[in-house]
Amino acid sequence: MKIISNPLKLKEYLKEVNTSVGFVPTMGALHEGHISLIKKAKEQNELVVVSIFLNPTQFSKDEDLDRYPKKDEADIKLCQLCGVDVLFFPQVEDIYGDDEVSISVPNVRGFVLEGNSRPSHFNGVLTVVMKLLNIVSPTKAYFGKKDAQQLNLISLMVKQLFMSVDIVPVDTVRESDGLALSSRNVYLSSQEREEALKISASLHSAGIMVSKNILDSKKIIKKMREVLNPLEIFYVEILNRDFKQLSHVEIGNTVILVEVKVGTTRLLDNIWL
Ligand code: AMP
Repeated sequence: MKIISNPLKLKEYLKEVNTSVGFVPTMGALHEGHISLIKKAKEQNELVVVSIFLNPTQFSKDEDLDRYPKKDEADIKLCQLCGVDVLFFPQVEDIYGDDEVSISVPNVRGFVLEGNSRPSHFNGVLTVVMKLLNIVSPTKAYFGKKDAQQLNLISLMVKQLFMSVDIVPVDTVRESDGLALSSRNVYLSSQEREEALKISASLHSAGIMVSKNILDSKKIIKKMREVLNPLEIFYVEILNRDFKQLSHVEIGNTVILVEVKVGTTRLLDNIWL
């Protein structure tokens, strides 16, 4: 596995490559969720590039940038074991300069859900993803459905800016008890981890209601909020795949999304129906 930190050197290296390139951007502290993205990229491409970059511009001043988990050595080993061809591991100064151009989210989809309580977050996400996609120029890039709003905004950016990359959504990987894997799960005490199970339980209860043909969004959200009680809820929403509110679940075109705070940790999850 080649490890490259300089964007121009990576561009130069990839210019010589005449095969399909699969790209998996991450912020490190890799877990099985990231591995499933890498596996999919390996299945579908001849060469796989993974990036590890803790992007400062998607964190606001009062967020967890300074304590975000770092496992550089373990991450490098894991990438080697997974058969990653190139690991892109830049420093902040390799990616950002002074007086930066930036990408802005659309006015509606950028400021609902997570964007409502983190108004600058997705500008940072889109800016760094744009930079990374321009550096790697992959055939396909892989993003988790767990971060559904991020996936939606990146897909929109790629479409609206006529970018030449296929965005591939990847299913959420969970622990056996239902908790969605996240690098931030390490912040949870054992008691908080128990409480966090209410998130997947609430989504499970929504799935059961839909299987009984109860499709009314208000009824489903009411039940989900009961299951989530007493966690601090940022939102529980039932949206279509274009992120517009649905009064009734439409099978094949629905995402049910939850974000809560457990202790001091924000956790999000969703199901696609
Ligand atoms: P992060 O390192 O948290 O920025 O995540 C990098 C990529 O992994 C993003 O596309 C995430 O959506 C994806 N990801 C994170 N957790 C999971 C998970 N549990 N299952 C599948 N993909 C995930």
